[in-house]
Amino acid sequence: MFRAIFREYGVEYAGAVPFSACRVFAEDIIIRRGIEPQKLKTAVLFLVPYYVADAEAGNISVYARAHDYHLFFERLYADITPRLEAAYGAKFYGFADKSAIAEVYAASLARLGKIGDSGLIINEKYGSYVFIGEILTEAPPEAFGIDERGDFEPSYCNHCGACKKACPMSEGLGCLSMVTQKKGELTPEERDFILRHGSAWGCDICAAACPYTKKAVAAGNVTPIEFFKTDRIAHLTAAQVEAMDKATFRERAFAWRGKKTILRNLEIFGE
Ligand code: SF4
Ligand code: SF4
Repeated sequence: MFRAIFREYGVEYAGAVPFSACRVFAEDIIIRRGIEPQKLKTAVLFLVPYYVADAEAGNISVYARAHDYHLFFERLYADITPRLEAAYGAKFYGFADKSAIAEVYAASLARLGKIGDSGLIINEKYGSYVFIGEILTEAPPEAFGIDERGDFEPSYCNHCGACKKACPMSEGLGCLSMVTQKKGELTPEERDFILRHGSAWGCDICAAACPYTKKAVAAGNVTPIEFFKTDRIAHLTAAQVEAMDKATFRERAFAWRGKKTILRNLEIFGE
């Protein structure tokens, strides 16, 4: 039943796993929401594909080209949570980004994809160009057609090594994505790092190098979700950022470190 509800929002991959099978590493996130962890019985995991066929061109990571995905999740949860609660007669709590459980692991347990050596989930249709969402609930696993004592095992990628080979992290500067999100001054090495890899925000190198993601891209498997197709910015310029008022800027995923940070990165490219 829950899969049919998710499909109405363009979410084709959803699965459930007993909460007891999940790895909880930040229980405080649950408690801060006023939820009693011992009451949680099931985790519903789902994938939100965000790829639109512009991955090769641009200086912004593919996930950040549409409006901020947090807005998508906020709207989705506002709509879908009451529907799930009515359907299952129990409380449901939506999470995205700040998660109490190991999401990639749980998504694999829920049979949504393999765990990649890149650290990303790999879905059969969309590769790694997906966000993971999770909804924790007090409804028991049986309500989702699964058994609390069932055999839940993750699956793994084929360890081909392409992501590690492609990753510029070996240069000892840390993750490029983290460097683009660092606040304040960058070192000359960090500036050069950003310049050489052509990204003013984020890094898609490991995801894009993965044969599963390549296959998804070659097959033209773009997101069916309108939110991620609308008002995209693949190649950002400083002039565009300067022209955005506060509200418009805040709607972008590259906004969360403030205008100064993204403008500093763009200035490296002379844009
Ligand atoms: S995001 Fe980029 S820098 Fe970070 S691990 Fe992947 S390839 Fe390496
Ligand atoms: S590139 Fe290869 S090793 Fe890396 S996640 Fe993909 S399949 Fe696994």
